Amino acid sequence: MRILVTGGAGFLGSNLCDRLLGDGHEVICIDNFFTGRKSNIAHLLGNPSFELVRHDVIDPFKFEVDQIYNLACPASPPHYQYNAIKTVKTSVMGAINCLGLAKRTKARVFQASTSEVYGDPAIHPQPESYWGNVNPIGIRSCYDEGKRVAETLFMDYHRQNQVDIRIVRIFNTYGPRMHPDDGRVVSNFIVQALKGQDITIYGDGTQTRSFCYVDDLIEGFVRLMNQNEVTGPINIGNPGEFTMLQLAEITLKLVGGKSKIVHRPLPNDDPKQRRPDITQARSVLKWEPTVQLEDGLKRTIAYFKTQI
Ligand code: NAD
Ligand code: UDP
Repeated sequence: MRILVTGGAGFLGSNLCDRLLGDGHEVICIDNFFTGRKSNIAHLLGNPSFELVRHDVIDPFKFEVDQIYNLACPASPPHYQYNAIKTVKTSVMGAINCLGLAKRTKARVFQASTSEVYGDPAIHPQPESYWGNVNPIGIRSCYDEGKRVAETLFMDYHRQNQVDIRIVRIFNTYGPRMHPDDGRVVSNFIVQALKGQDITIYGDGTQTRSFCYVDDLIEGFVRLMNQNEVTGPINIGNPGEFTMLQLAEITLKLVGGKSKIVHRPLPNDDPKQRRPDITQARSVLKWEPTVQLEDGLKRTIAYFKTQI
């Protein structure tokens, strides 16, 4: 197949491009390089099955493709808050442009949604049926509400125009090709520990997240995209749940060194807990994560050692 990946030079996008090329497909990657890096895809540039296009998804684009994975959107809070209005445009216009292309070409189109649609969840763990607890006017809203509107658009294009859609709700994912200055917790802690700097825990560190290794996530993407039973939204994530204090301690143990744990103010609207209910992924996709946190962190630490 010929497959379009928006945001293909980013952390998840570049890992997905590798997987799709490895499976024998042709890949067109479009990216505006806001948070993505050429180095993530440099090894693919000589591959005749790979094509890179610098383009912003808020502007329309035309390609003849069989499948579309829409990943273009900054994902870390400092990056999506840098230009909040642009983040909303990227989510909403990017979704409309992908859906319009899918409508014309009859390509199947996949939306990278997020556990952020659950906001600061009052139900724990979070099943897909939970409608969420999202602040519509806070500093995370540009991302959370942008992604929620994108889900709405996907469902409406599906109901109204029979566009063939898939929606995944991604829970915190980590691994090689995260940007060292990305600002997300796993990259921050590893880079800080490797540089011997203080490990910055926001708040008291009792908030929880569930961390999925990138290879497991990409396997879930491909399974969701290539089955015919469900459109989603479907949760993909690792149900192992850790406090940020635990994550700091595990990272320090694995990296070694003399870093100290320090506390910094908790950003507004920071969700207190998050853990996916993956019953649907298990039953429909026969998917579950295979990489334990310590193993995934070791691989990620090895990657960051080559970067800094
Ligand atoms: P990332 O920042 O590494 O990748 C995003 C990519 O999109 C980058 O290459 C960036 O340059 C590109 N991009 C941003 N705005 C664009 C625009 N207007 N036009 C074209 N390209 C644009 O982040 P990631 O972790 O790889 O996330 C990929 C997708 O997965 C995002 O949609 C994100 O919301 C979603 N997601 C990721 C996670 C996670 O834990 N990694 C969790 C939930 C959802
Ligand atoms: N966090 C932290 N120290 C950091 C970066 C993040 O304690 O240096 C916390 C953050 O406040 C949040 C959790 O780690 O509670 C996960 O943050 P991240 O930005 O990775 O993802 P998200 O909040 O979007 O799930």
